[in-house]
Formats: sequence, C-alpha cells, structure tokens
Amino acid sequence: MICDFNLTRVKLHLFIPSNRKLWTIITKNNEYWLDLDLDYCTCKYYFFKTLSGQHNCIHLKILNDRIRTNNYETIKFKDNEYDDFLISLFKDILSWNYTLTK
Ligand SMILES: [Zn+2]
Repeated sequence: MICDFNLTRVKLHLFIPSNRKLWTIITKNNEYWLDLDLDYCTCKYYFFKTLSGQHNCIHLKILNDRIRTNNYETIKFKDNEYDDFLISLFKDILSWNYTLTK
C-alpha cells in the first residue's frame, strides 16, 4: 500500500484528570487507534505481522517519531467522556474496515 505520510495527522486524546492517553493516526484513507503502553495498533499489518513477532507497523514508528519531534495535536477531554469517545472511535474504525474489505 502506498501512503503519503506527509499527509498523516497524529492526534493525542488526553483525558483529564486521569491523564489517560489515546492516540489516533489519520491518513488519507484510514484512521488508526494506537496504544503506546501496549504497543498496539488497529491496522491490518499489525494484526498479521506485528502480532506474529515481525516488525512493528509503520504507524507505531510514525507515532514514536512524532512524539520525539513534538509534532502532534493534543485534544483534551474530561474523564467522563472516555466511554463515549471509545464507542464512537470503535464505530468509526469498524465502519472504515468494513468499507475497505467489502
Ligand atoms: Zn498500524
């Protein structure tokens, strides 16, 4: 798959006051949710390759790069918005994946 990673946007969703962090990477064609503590990404490459012990997916590499260079957007939420946020995020991801695999 060819992606123009200059178009990639990285967002940190920061929940206050727990300081819980969720990261999303938005590319031209898709959106991925990442958890750095778990080294987890929702992309298919992660599922097929990273989980079987091969290389990390490109999104985890991008995310680490962006954090190092401080190149991301931060959006703050209240902790009580966390559940609603996760639900809408999963709905988005599921609908994206469903559209792509149809
Ligand atoms: Zn990924």
